[in-house]
Amino acid sequence: MDIHEYQAKEILSQFGVGIPQGALAYSPEQAAYRAREIGGERWVVKAQIHAGGRGKAGGVKVCNSDHEIQAVTEDMFGQKLVTHQTGPEGKGIYRVYVEAAVPIAREIYLGFVLDRATQRVMIIASSEGGMEIEDISAESPDSMIRAVVEPAVGLPEFQCREIAFALGIKPGMIQQMVRTLRGCYRALRELDATMVEVNPLVLTGDDRVLALDAKMAFDNNALFRHPQIMELRDKSQEDPRESRAADHGLSYVGLEGNIGCIVNGAGLAMATMDTIKLAGGEPANFLDIGGGATPERVSRAFRLVMSDKNVQAILINIFAGINRCDWVAEGIVRALRDEPIDVPVVVRLAGTNVEEGQKILAQSGLPLIRATTLMEAAERAVQSWRADQNRNPNLKVV
Ligand code: ADP
Ligand code: MG
Repeated sequence: MDIHEYQAKEILSQFGVGIPQGALAYSPEQAAYRAREIGGERWVVKAQIHAGGRGKAGGVKVCNSDHEIQAVTEDMFGQKLVTHQTGPEGKGIYRVYVEAAVPIAREIYLGFVLDRATQRVMIIASSEGGMEIEDISAESPDSMIRAVVEPAVGLPEFQCREIAFALGIKPGMIQQMVRTLRGCYRALRELDATMVEVNPLVLTGDDRVLALDAKMAFDNNALFRHPQIMELRDKSQEDPRESRAADHGLSYVGLEGNIGCIVNGAGLAMATMDTIKLAGGEPANFLDIGGGATPERVSRAFRLVMSDKNVQAILINIFAGINRCDWVAEGIVRALRDEPIDVPVVVRLAGTNVEEGQKILAQSGLPLIRATTLMEAAERAVQSWRADQNRNPNLKVV
């Protein structure tokens, strides 16, 4: 789960990381009011969306008066901000963060990530942080400083000092840097975060170390241990299809293609998507109905897949072990009776209670296309989608 910049900053500051003074606003009037509360002469208004790259996309604006803040935020609220991290559809701006403008002397990049190769938390730092960090890491990957944290020991001061030296931090500011590094690491460990990124971490003209931007992501499977983090979830920033699925215990990932998939088990879902591609099609989603799926869950999965307007054919591929083909078949029939659809539906069932399942499908009288192997199912889905395309030339081809 991702959270907003202002939320990550609040968390990090509780762990001793320095942040500029700032406040959240839900309207242009409130944003202007926040600036007056903060005081000073220059502020930065920052669109709160679950993505980086806002600066280059116009989502971070320096303002010199509260009137300017009002005008700038009037253009932000309700708009979709498209950055290189959001995808072409962008993310809606419903909150802005108003922050005191900070006199920046240097911008540093600081990231804490889980490194699969070493199975450890890895710290990545660069003395040239800021908005060009992607270019720097691509052009001169060796300039990035990397340090692996030994979990049994934690992040000791000497290791933080090593990183600070490598970043060329002057002696008088090393202690602040150590505090910042340790604070980020503790926040990551204690809250089961999977990522903490501060870009930029700045050194100010008056010798302060401040996080000017902050990003945190959390392990969904550990959220039950942190109800205060769970409360930070902002559904307006999630793919609506994915959050609806999560609410019903289904794992769903929306994709760009037009063949909807309903599958049990993540491995089979991956294999199904691969086979669709092999047959010349593009999957519209990844949907895992899980084990022991009831007819209700199956028909809900069906409705979810159909709510994606790009879906022009559906492939149901169930290899039942704990699942029961008769329940799956009942779910399919129920979904199609409740809401008849005009796209081809291909069904491949195998495993537990497959005969009963096939019988239910056959007796339903519904125009389902049946297949016995995965390859056959994928080919039929792609063929029937193509045939449908020819009949309905108005359908969008992706
Ligand atoms: P993003 O990473 O989404 O582009 P940032 O929060 O990193 O957004 O902001 C982009 C840039 O704006 C930063 O690299 C920094 O140079 C500048 N900036 C951000 N916040 C402040 C601030 N409070 N004072 C001065 N400059 C800021
Ligand atoms: Mg940033």
